[in-house]
Amino acid sequence: MNVLVINTGSSSLKYQLFDMETEAILAKGNCERIGIDGHVKHQPSNGKPILNEDFPMPSHSDAINLVISTLTGAKHGVIDSLSEIHAIGHRVVHGGKRFSESALINKEVLEAIVGCVRLAPLHIPANLMGIYACQKAVPSAPHVAVFDTAFHLTMPDEAFIYPIPYRYYEENEIRRYGFHGTSHRYVSAKAIDYLGGNPNGLRLITCHLGNGASLAAIKDGKSIDTTMGATPLEGLPMGTRCGTVDAALIDVISEIEGGLSAADTLEILNKKSGILGISGVSSDFRDVMNRAEFKYDDPLSVHDLEDLSDTRRSQLALDTFKYQVAKFIGAYIVALGGVDAIIFTAGVGENSPAIRRGICDWLTGFNIQIDGDRNGRAFGSGVTEISHPTSATKVLVVPTNEELVIARDTMKLVSETPVN
Ligand code: ADP
Repeated sequence: MNVLVINTGSSSLKYQLFDMETEAILAKGNCERIGIDGHVKHQPSNGKPILNEDFPMPSHSDAINLVISTLTGAKHGVIDSLSEIHAIGHRVVHGGKRFSESALINKEVLEAIVGCVRLAPLHIPANLMGIYACQKAVPSAPHVAVFDTAFHLTMPDEAFIYPIPYRYYEENEIRRYGFHGTSHRYVSAKAIDYLGGNPNGLRLITCHLGNGASLAAIKDGKSIDTTMGATPLEGLPMGTRCGTVDAALIDVISEIEGGLSAADTLEILNKKSGILGISGVSSDFRDVMNRAEFKYDDPLSVHDLEDLSDTRRSQLALDTFKYQVAKFIGAYIVALGGVDAIIFTAGVGENSPAIRRGICDWLTGFNIQIDGDRNGRAFGSGVTEISHPTSATKVLVVPTNEELVIARDTMKLVSETPVN
């Protein structure tokens, strides 16, 4: 079975086509600047040339049509016809309280996803555009929705309730939902396998550290808490998001900016804060780390906030990030009553020994230590153990693969559903 995985943003559409017999990726790519000027990048894995071109795509429908004609075309294609796309899996950012698992999309499921728009008004409309466009382009294929929030629906009441008037929960379903669930689910399952295969009694903390970042506390294989909240803004500082701050800052910043609307003030907290906000350099961790490195020739303390050089602010941004990750790990050690393994994943978690080291340096009070050599060499696929043999807790690096989870869920649901 070939499964096409689609991840749609407001102006982008990422895709991967899997052959599920081998789980090999036949092709992957992305369309960017949809509705602006349009650019497509397509990488076939059969030796045919890469496509990397500007291409007009006024709508998501145009983008998906381009993807399909490229997948089936003579020059860059990997399949002969549309009929070789047997199912399509869609990443959907929010499933509200309704979806604790992935779902085959039918009229009723689609209506329920539309009902989640009010919970994620910036993201779900884009996901829906992707679903509608694919349904139109490949009407014969079954479509499956895989929700970022689903894995966290096992959180207990005290972890998901916000201490605000209860009616917002009762009447408006405002609560912690959490995101990156597909990634936390995948890496925790890998870690459970590595640790002997029995989830019962295992206490894990998964650290998804990319441009977006979140932690999850996982007990018996189930999420019991996570740092992101009703929206992805809460929790850790991220590439451009502030994470947890004093909610009254909305008003304070609005006033400083001359009466900015709540929406525009939130835009600052979502898009201009985090690593970018503190460093003033970039939202990309590699850029910020490159700038911060110059500090090592500088004898002055980084915390001398009077000196606002890029280098100091970059170092401070990274220090803040490492501290906040470690602080939430501490909180989750309490939530779990201890911890058996800490798992690092995503762009920063998989690739940066320095950030992993900086986070774990805060944890020595819990007798958690990483091994310098193992940490420095932890690249590649599979599970890599980076903890020191004397560490009370295992520390693992596990590359995430959200697309594969979406493809697997899609195949499972499609295979289980009887054909009428
Ligand atoms: P997204 O949330 O966009 O999926 P990723 O998980 O791909 O993000 O992570 C992207 C982040 O990972 C970027 O900020 C990038 O700089 C960072 N990153 C990738 N490789 C490294 C590295 N070797 N060292 C530090 N950061 C890295």
